[in-house]
Amino acid sequence: MDRTYLIKPELDEDYPVIDYGKGVYLFDISGKRYLDASSGAVTANIGHGVEEINEAMMDQAKKVSFVYRSQFTSVAAEKLAEKIALSTPGDLNWSFFVNSGSEATETAMKIAIQHWQEKGRPLKTKILSRWVSYHGITIGALSMSGHPGRRSRFVPLLADFPVVSPPYCYRCPFNKEPKSCGYECAKELDVAFRRIGPESIAGFIAEPIVGAAGGAITPPKDYYRIIKEICEKHDILFIADEVMTGFGRTGTMLACEHWGIVPDLVSLGKGMGAGYAPIAATLVTERVMEPIKKGSKVIMSGHTLSANPQSSAVALAVLEYLEKNNVIEDVEAKGTYLKNSLKKLKTLFPFIGDIRGKGLLIGIEFVGNPKTKQSFPRELNVTERVVKMAKDVGLLLYPATAGEDGKSGDAIIISPPLTITKREIEELVRLFTSALTKVQEELETKGVK
Ligand code: PMP
Repeated sequence: MDRTYLIKPELDEDYPVIDYGKGVYLFDISGKRYLDASSGAVTANIGHGVEEINEAMMDQAKKVSFVYRSQFTSVAAEKLAEKIALSTPGDLNWSFFVNSGSEATETAMKIAIQHWQEKGRPLKTKILSRWVSYHGITIGALSMSGHPGRRSRFVPLLADFPVVSPPYCYRCPFNKEPKSCGYECAKELDVAFRRIGPESIAGFIAEPIVGAAGGAITPPKDYYRIIKEICEKHDILFIADEVMTGFGRTGTMLACEHWGIVPDLVSLGKGMGAGYAPIAATLVTERVMEPIKKGSKVIMSGHTLSANPQSSAVALAVLEYLEKNNVIEDVEAKGTYLKNSLKKLKTLFPFIGDIRGKGLLIGIEFVGNPKTKQSFPRELNVTERVVKMAKDVGLLLYPATAGEDGKSGDAIIISPPLTITKREIEELVRLFTSALTKVQEELETKGVK
């Protein structure tokens, strides 16, 4: 072929062409094998080439692939919504199916606003959020995202929704220690609500564990309890963006379960279809649905392919697979084993600053100086180097940004399929070690130690 007609993320980059995938591995057309330690973009939660999922997809295709949501529902979508209601905590009983995480967070935003409209409070329209966060690429979702790199080109179009600091203990925005900090980062939300005025705020959105924008930033124990209390005090809905953390990634169906809270709305995506089909969802509690059910009885959002039977059948099969194979139950132990193995690398590679995360969502932040936590100069492209070197040795990692401004630091996420075995975890750590060894050599030639 003389030219490509496909718009790729990096236009000048030659991407390997993948031939097939099996379990935690992908194989390109030259026969090179990659251990998928990122599950793509934290998506291929049950690994590649799982027969049951392909069969469920085929079975559905033989029946019907598409019905339009305003005309029909489907057995697959009905069953999926029921199973999600039974698998999630509290009264998160309602599912609105969409096709991507961005659509799911944007739908959550709209349902939150509509909830207040139906209750006769139409001025409650803002959805506040945190800096160092990512909620999606569409304009509404990007407005809620505290990701300077992804916002910058579109700032004039965006609402100023990110207002408070993230619970980023490694670089505490208040220069405190976790044991004695008094949760200032959570309490900052109370001040923000009072300053801006709760009468204009519909909701507050947060990723239980910050993914792409921070490299698996994990809050201390009581953070979400305090956040939820502050939201309730001011009559503001709490939206958990579980697009990355949901569907078992951290060892529970929803990451919020670790902290014993039930959000008012939840967005899901990524692991829901596990990469086998595009599907995402906004989950809504009974309380949030109530005024809409009594009022206009219509959710003013939706897409042509919402609740698509084909995608619904896939997500249902993924949930059944997780249950049948007790996948989620094993995540915590696997995550601990992987994290402990990674921690041992700190002595070999002093530029590993912090290792964090929960279950099989693990973040590693790299720093130029581990004592002062000073980041590497941006022009060294350390994240990109690590990801590229890993890919060269046959290991896939997910690049993240880090640093107090969400752009000056370097981080990666390690998030293999939840089905990874102990032997494969050991191989992952071996490959990671050899990639970091090469990065260290490169940095040394540039005079960085
Ligand atoms: N929210 C979170 C927490 C995410 O990690 C992502 C994707 N990285 C999104 C929303 C957007 O999802 P999508 O790319 O499927 O639109």
